[in-house]
Amino acid sequence: MINLTIKQALQKLKNREISAIDLTQSYLDRIEKFGKDLNCYITITPERAIEDAKKSDSRYASNTQLPLDGMPIAMKDLFATRNIRTTAASKMLEDFIPQYESTVSQKLIDAGTVLLGKANLDEFAMGTFSKTSFFGAPINPWQMEKQLTAGGSSGGSTSAVAGGLAIAATGTDTGGSIRFPSAMTGLVGMKPTYGLCSRWGCVAFASSLDTPGPIARTVEDAALMLSAMAGYDNKDSTSSPKAKFETDGNLQPILENGKTLKIGVIKEFNSVQISDDMRHLFEQRIADLKSMGAEIIEVSIPNILDALAAYYIIAPAEASSNLARYDGMKYGLRVEGEDLIDTYKKTRAEGFGDEVKRRMIIGTAVLSSESYEVYFMQAAKVRRMIADSFQKAFEQCDLIVCPSSAGTALPLNSDLSPLECYALDLFTVAMNLAGIPSCSVPCGLAQNGLPLGMQVVGPRFADMKVLQLAKHIETIANIDNRPKIIMGK
Ligand code: GLN
Repeated sequence: MINLTIKQALQKLKNREISAIDLTQSYLDRIEKFGKDLNCYITITPERAIEDAKKSDSRYASNTQLPLDGMPIAMKDLFATRNIRTTAASKMLEDFIPQYESTVSQKLIDAGTVLLGKANLDEFAMGTFSKTSFFGAPINPWQMEKQLTAGGSSGGSTSAVAGGLAIAATGTDTGGSIRFPSAMTGLVGMKPTYGLCSRWGCVAFASSLDTPGPIARTVEDAALMLSAMAGYDNKDSTSSPKAKFETDGNLQPILENGKTLKIGVIKEFNSVQISDDMRHLFEQRIADLKSMGAEIIEVSIPNILDALAAYYIIAPAEASSNLARYDGMKYGLRVEGEDLIDTYKKTRAEGFGDEVKRRMIIGTAVLSSESYEVYFMQAAKVRRMIADSFQKAFEQCDLIVCPSSAGTALPLNSDLSPLECYALDLFTVAMNLAGIPSCSVPCGLAQNGLPLGMQVVGPRFADMKVLQLAKHIETIANIDNRPKIIMGK
């Protein structure tokens, strides 16, 4: 049953060929069997899952089923879930049990999904390998013996979905955290337009960049998840009144019937070093799209190579401000000190890991009065220029494509410096700075048998178009994205 896509499972449930309880149980069995090895869940919620599944079955019985009724999903442990521990993979929130439900998780409840548990991630979503998690890194289900990264920060979500421990999952993408891990695990990861999915109740990292979105095995599954997650929310001041995304799971082709589609390729990315496999597969997919009638043009985003520098100023600046709330007074860890200041210090010293501390130090530095103009303001200007350049590019083309990463998943024990890790985000951060939608879709397998992904990028609110083109790429790439652990070989 774990081989079913959302679309197939919904159909089988409607036809009464399977029940939500059986579907849920088959995922719970997988979690029992592989959950520890993959370390993809921080908290599992089997009782809740069974309860949810029972409700789904009774709705099917009375023909009152909801859009995603009975779909067993993993929730990135950054979304607050009422009465269920929400840790952000930090010691700071190790025992935090929210009294409220995030908007996105509430919407998924309202759509009838079944909650399997809370997925592992980088601490406060800061990282690229999910190695900064206080609970240890999740493992990539591909070539498990090699202990590769499932990517980050939504690495628990991608590990769970790729390994068949959830039918789909939520992620958040501040600088690539949905797209990069999806690319590393052969999955589809959609970072929607900023403002399409509410951030309310999602633990804040960098508020002007944080974007909730879906991770799934197919493009249509991602679209179905997104349609449940999206929508205007007056509890999030950056939620867009235009926020709307609806689909029945059938994405219409945009490359057939003689329709012309102009696809842009970013000139500045040509000079970036990527693996031969990535280059080859990317070129191959471009050639395929061309032969299907797309017009391929080169577009320029002049400052795109400065996106990394701008991102690693803006994101830490916002993080340092957002994480100031963890002081041992209101909620989360508290380590008693001699006086108030000492309690703050001890709590924060013990509660945060190294990477989170590094970000807060960088953020505090770039916001200090001596640095504000030269760093933060400059970064804000570069951000504006990048957003403007994308807008201009979209006057010349409908959509843009580019690689999701330079290469395949690295071993978790790779000894990369913080800056080397940051550099891995080169292909993803610009879209967050611009607030535009981008979907990573598998584009093939590398020589080493590991999956690679490419991105489809669109103008603000062209989320549907992005997914439509992603579906074409998924179809032409035609990879089997079930790692051995699922195929049972
Ligand atoms: N790797 C990036 C970072 O560490 C992106 C993280 C994210 O998107 N949450 O900041």
